[in-house]
Amino acid sequence: MNRSEQLFERAKNVIPGGVNSPVRAFQAVGGRPRFIAKAEKEMITDVDGNTYIDYIGSWGPMILGHNHPAIREAAMEAAGRGLSFGASCPAEVEMAELICQMVPSIELVRMVNSGTEAVMSALRVARGYTGKNKIIKFEGCYHGHCDSMLVKAGSGVMTSGVPDSAGVPEGCAKDTLTAVYNDADSVRSLFSQFPGEIAAVIVEPVAANMGVVVPKEGFLSELRRICDEEKALLIFDEVITGFRLGFDGAQGYYGVTPDLTTFGKIIGAGMPVGAYGGRREIMEMVSPVGSVYQAGTLSGNPVAMAAGLAQLHILKENPKIYEEMNAMGDYFRAELSQLVKTAGAPCRVTGVGSLSCLFFTGEEVVDYRSAKTSDVSAFADYFRYMLAHGIYVAPSQFEAIFLSSVHTKEDVDRTLTVIEDYWKEKA
Ligand code: PLP
Repeated sequence: MNRSEQLFERAKNVIPGGVNSPVRAFQAVGGRPRFIAKAEKEMITDVDGNTYIDYIGSWGPMILGHNHPAIREAAMEAAGRGLSFGASCPAEVEMAELICQMVPSIELVRMVNSGTEAVMSALRVARGYTGKNKIIKFEGCYHGHCDSMLVKAGSGVMTSGVPDSAGVPEGCAKDTLTAVYNDADSVRSLFSQFPGEIAAVIVEPVAANMGVVVPKEGFLSELRRICDEEKALLIFDEVITGFRLGFDGAQGYYGVTPDLTTFGKIIGAGMPVGAYGGRREIMEMVSPVGSVYQAGTLSGNPVAMAAGLAQLHILKENPKIYEEMNAMGDYFRAELSQLVKTAGAPCRVTGVGSLSCLFFTGEEVVDYRSAKTSDVSAFADYFRYMLAHGIYVAPSQFEAIFLSSVHTKEDVDRTLTVIEDYWKEKA
């Protein structure tokens, strides 16, 4: 047994399934998960000394690559002044000011510790503000693991083929209605079924937890229109897309303004951080100003804020990063599509900016149903080949390929060559 295998065996004795988040167990693709010793820029190295080009980037936060010196130094410098105070600190104010400045829809923002917490809190605010209980989400969209969102969720939940989790009381799920992504009519029809009862529509503006499914033209603006007509709030879950598609996230990219937005991942640069924010009058519902309770022992943690701020400042001061990274994404998708065509592979390439996906289906992927037509055992075979050839993509069909600003054209070309070789071997 190599070291990864030994660690996995030990882990299984003391951690459920040997992992602290299900997708890490490689259940969907077979084989043994790699335990990681270190990561630098776009490369990740396991405890056995194997190095891979990493397209997971810790599931999104590492937009500038791993172990960026300025971010590491900012975190270490903050750590030198104390790890947590349980009282407000200057970096929290700076972080909130920066988010409000960069994302025009946000006038007030509250820091939390994960994307799950951000979503859970935003939903509570939406219910408190509107006085209504029901929430519409989309099949295959993942919004973290709070009870009410584990209904037709994507990501790990979708991977295991368990759309509804055990342990979620019926009462928690009964107010969650599910619509079809890219189908505004399915949303309208829920509003007519439950008139006056729906507090909010929550959506991943680019769905990145059923693989990557981009919004059709007009879909997001139609959601905006429906929410306005129905006096419901529109919540963009930008935990993945926030500060990734551009500084103002998917809302800036697609020009649609939500009422509330949730963030995570990039704003923490790899530290456990989330945030939710929106219009002042809505966010003033949050305690201690308003009557919607929400709190956190470690929220606004000084070390996490320092790391996140360092990352956001680099992005803000170098807007070309987005231009170049998104262009690399376009190049990758164009070349990959060409490879698919040449190989005659029954695959679809999707994505936008630095988020991409290779679906193992011949169907056009526009929603959860079409994403689920993917041949997951073919994906698993491809995944194992990639890993064996030094390319670390997500161990599930229903996740994104994340580019960072430090992936080079050589990395991308090397990756394309491995994929090409894979199909040649399969032919
Ligand atoms: N929302 C989206 C869109 C996500 O992709 C995720 C996690 O991947 C979450 C929410 C939950 O975030 P976290 O894992 O930080 O709780």
